[in-house]
Amino acid sequence: MKNAQCKKCLNKFRQKDIYTIQQFQYRKEPTYEWSVKYFEKSGISEWDSFCENCMSFYSKESEKEWNEPKI
Ligand SMILES: [Zn+2]
Repeated sequence: MKNAQCKKCLNKFRQKDIYTIQQFQYRKEPTYEWSVKYFEKSGISEWDSFCENCMSFYSKESEKEWNEPKI
């Protein structure tokens, strides 16, 4: 049953396929602390559900931001 919904694209999917930004705990960079703050600014909390596609989109976006030279 598809009873979970992605917060970004609003697609429905199965509960077991939910992704959250908590998975970013496992990447080295950006740090998880930074990631949480980064997503907070976009109104995304650690408990929001996303599909795999949107999560990989956010993963790339946040990496891009992390690698931006700081002025
Ligand atoms: Zn999505």
